[in-house]
Amino acid sequence: MKKMIYLDNASTTRPSEKALNAMLPYLTDAYGNPSSVYSSGQDAKAAVEDARHKAAKAIGALPEEIFFTSGGTESDNWAIRSAAELKKEKGKHIITSAIEHPAVLNTLAHLEKNGYDVTYLGTDRYGQISLDELRNAIRSDTVLITIMTANNEIGTILPIPEIGMIAKENGIIFHTDAVQAVGHIPVDVKEMGADLLSLSGHKFGGAKGTGALFVRKGLRLPPLIYGGGQERGGRSGTENVPGIVSLAAALEDAVRQIPLTGVARMRDRLIKGLLKIPRSRLTGDPVNRLPGIASFVFECVEGESMLLLLDRCGICASSGSACSSGSLDPSHVLTATGLPHEAAHGSLRLSLSSGNTDEEIDRVLDELPKIIAKLRGMSPLWKEV
Ligand code: PLP
Repeated sequence: MKKMIYLDNASTTRPSEKALNAMLPYLTDAYGNPSSVYSSGQDAKAAVEDARHKAAKAIGALPEEIFFTSGGTESDNWAIRSAAELKKEKGKHIITSAIEHPAVLNTLAHLEKNGYDVTYLGTDRYGQISLDELRNAIRSDTVLITIMTANNEIGTILPIPEIGMIAKENGIIFHTDAVQAVGHIPVDVKEMGADLLSLSGHKFGGAKGTGALFVRKGLRLPPLIYGGGQERGGRSGTENVPGIVSLAAALEDAVRQIPLTGVARMRDRLIKGLLKIPRSRLTGDPVNRLPGIASFVFECVEGESMLLLLDRCGICASSGSACSSGSLDPSHVLTATGLPHEAAHGSLRLSLSSGNTDEEIDRVLDELPKIIAKLRGMSPLWKEV
């Protein structure tokens, strides 16, 4: 495979060395089922419990508050559907933001079809919600607030401890989708006031198909999956031992590296360099943003075309205009921040990891302005100001 410049780490990451080395034995000789009584089964069980301790420590939780899942989508589904089910006697009103991931939005859409009422808080141009609007949205039948820790498209970090406090003052369960935050910025479930928190292994160097849901001690969620009673009855199915081990090893390593990496510095070089392109704009919060996400809109260029030409240069990136369903609708996140549809079509997200280098950033700063100039040269909409 040709050497590529991988700038799509918010989509998925390269499995870390630590994760690969940790999981390998469980893909080869140590393949026992954690439910078996003989020693290879018990060794696998011990590996899962060790992983639970490590994952808990990484987010300031207790081991018994961690439930392993198949990823962020499952964790979001479980948290939201089960919290709604748990509190249905109290009411059927849920508050969220307009910029959540489809794993949250489509779970809520399902609940809406089943009689739930959902308030979608809008955002300002940076993707920040208003805490006053949140307070005003609370009703006597509000049972759940679900608001993401950080946004996957524009990198905005939301005021989670403040939201957690408001939820607590009002006796409402608070779930946060922290899939883009965990392993990238310090995350502490207590400081956040979270009752439920979703994370996903492949976003920080773990294997795909691994994740976890933090469930605050004392909250007993109904299971999403029924079966043999694994994960203390919460999530049945034979554990993905290699995946779980990889998640914990990757997370431990990612958290240790948070203060050490030059990711934010490389992000800032990209932002500074690319904003020199005429009629370009940074999307997301300029200050409260994830260290690894540089996101933009460029007028009079199509996101898809940029991606194709970047790919020809060996650069992997993504665009909010490319919807997973293949539709041409612009990103709901960008439109929620007030961008007109035409502008939202020209979005680009470059998401970094500690594996990127300054030479790679130089290459992007060299190639991308040329690509944009070329595309604009072909665009009937483009007129030089
Ligand atoms: N939530 C957010 C904010 C995400 O960015 C993603 C993945 O892109 C998910 C949830 C889904 O995670 P997974 O791919 O592990 O199902």
